[in-house]
Amino acid sequence: MFGVWVPPDEAGRAEVGKLAYYGLYALQHRGQESAGIAVSDGSRIVVFKDMGLVSQVFDESVLSTLHGHLAVGHCRYSTTGSPTWENAQPTFRSTGHGGLALAHNGNLINTPELADRLDGGALTATSDTEVLTALLATREGGPMEAAREILPVTRGAYSLVFMDEGTLYAARDPEGIRPLVLGRWEDKGWVVASETAALDIVGARFVREVEPGELIAIDGPGEADVRAERFAEPRPKGCLFEYVYLARPDTTIAGRNVQATRVEVGRRLALEHPVEADMVIPTPESGTPAAIGYAEASGIPYGQGLVKNSYVGRTFIQPSQTIRQLGIRLKLNPLREAIEGRRLVVVDDSIVRGNTQRQVVALLREAGAAEVHVRISSPPVSWPCFYGIDFATRAELIAGRLDVEGIRDSIGADSLGFISLDELIAASQIAKDRLCRACFDGVYPIPVEEAARGKHLLEPSRP
Ligand code: SF4
Repeated sequence: MFGVWVPPDEAGRAEVGKLAYYGLYALQHRGQESAGIAVSDGSRIVVFKDMGLVSQVFDESVLSTLHGHLAVGHCRYSTTGSPTWENAQPTFRSTGHGGLALAHNGNLINTPELADRLDGGALTATSDTEVLTALLATREGGPMEAAREILPVTRGAYSLVFMDEGTLYAARDPEGIRPLVLGRWEDKGWVVASETAALDIVGARFVREVEPGELIAIDGPGEADVRAERFAEPRPKGCLFEYVYLARPDTTIAGRNVQATRVEVGRRLALEHPVEADMVIPTPESGTPAAIGYAEASGIPYGQGLVKNSYVGRTFIQPSQTIRQLGIRLKLNPLREAIEGRRLVVVDDSIVRGNTQRQVVALLREAGAAEVHVRISSPPVSWPCFYGIDFATRAELIAGRLDVEGIRDSIGADSLGFISLDELIAASQIAKDRLCRACFDGVYPIPVEEAARGKHLLEPSRP
């Protein structure tokens, strides 16, 4: 998710459509189902969105039509509402004053209650984001007024960037579950992005995080043009899984670099779950930093045993089981010469359904590995996430059904070890009470009612 504002007289040079494109390109890992950019020239908002990766949706000819001095962009990974064109973002609504375009990272947990506030107003899509956009667009007094009224009653995870014709807005839920940062572009423009890495890629400088419970409006080049206010008291509960898997390694969240955290987790994993072996290999690339840390702390040489095709998307983040299983085979190929006859430690970031690890262990054995010891740089994912990760139901999570020995047996490893929750938290250097750890310990910082749990809750014809 990405937003940019530059002074109108810089619009031609800055090409905000392209800045948004590069920003989304840097954030592609956060969602791969659809992509979109809304741009305004001060009098009219134009939205272009479609299904597919950022590079599939946009080309030179499309980007050359996106003129203006402010833009918001989004790459979607669906958690409420199917992956359809209508649910692609930014969402757009006409207001009494013009238009409103909105991009949302996270997942709301009181969507039905919010939908009731629409007083029967028609929805054109089935996502939580559509409901929020409709609510913000139908209030009197413009987006800021509407946000002051609606955000305090909006529950769940929401990092937002939205815009009308002339102003860029940003907001973050009081728990600050998903990251959101503010950056400076050439001392005259402003950028808001899901991760600091996206600031780097467009040449913007990190200024600060958008605080939990904060609402910001930007419509000028000066520091004083960033008008920030609180709509709720902050209750920080940043997502621990961002450090494990979701965020880019070159991103920093709450002052802690993600790569450094992952390497440190690997070191701690080696101390918690040592094993005699000849080589430590990662499941590339998400297991790489922890494998480096494991090798460093254990003294076992680090090597490459699996080659990844980087052009295949993440496996669990895609929505259907068929695609997921195909994805694993397309993605990894073992290096027989490096593996044959060796006792391997294979480090991966997480086990969700167990399909990836089962196939990785089988691939390594087929390639001649003498032993395969799996080490995981997160605790077992035993509980679903309702705040923006589609882990699905508890029954689909292998750790929701099996203990560690059962999982080891199921994936066919010689041994299996998970980092403990305490060690993971210690590696993150964030205080435990400022983190959401619900998928690991079942303690949900924002209680979720049963009625608000389904991905398809606004799609009654779907199961
Ligand atoms: S449940 Fe897990 S993935 Fe979801 S926000 Fe909490 S820590 Fe992150």
